[in-house]
Amino acid sequence: SVEEAAAKAAAHLADTEPPTIFDKIIDKTIPANIIYEDDEALAFRDIGPQAPVHFLVIPKKRSGLTRLSKATEEHKALLGHLLYVAQLVAMKENLGEGFRVCINDGPNGCQSVYHLHLHVMGGRQLTWPPG
Ligand code: IMP
Repeated sequence: SVEEAAAKAAAHLADTEPPTIFDKIIDKTIPANIIYEDDEALAFRDIGPQAPVHFLVIPKKRSGLTRLSKATEEHKALLGHLLYVAQLVAMKENLGEGFRVCINDGPNGCQSVYHLHLHVMGGRQLTWPPG
């Protein structure tokens, strides 16, 4: 039934994992340099910048996305929105000459905060490959 399908989707989006420091940034109980906010997403400057401009784009509701590899069909619109916001804020930050968007997933990806986030870095000539 429609109700069963809705319940299944809601279960997929339920978030039972422990909160992270980003929840405190979202509810503004710890300060952050927030440069963009809408109903679904927040962008703020990284506390340990790896480039002259380095900010993070995160979903305000983690919805089970402790890491990118937890994504399901239900997350596709949100993932698209986060990528859209990444470039929107990059343009506001005068990164028209280019920038990098990166997502670290899990131990091998060097992820340290288990609340999905896009790194956006620019403002200098970046190099490739990353470490
Ligand atoms: P990860 O290693 O991809 O999980 O990235 C986590 C990022 O969050 C790192 O680049 C940290 O510097 C950044 N970070 C951790 N705590 C804070 C904070 O309180 N404010 C802003 N950035 C933070």
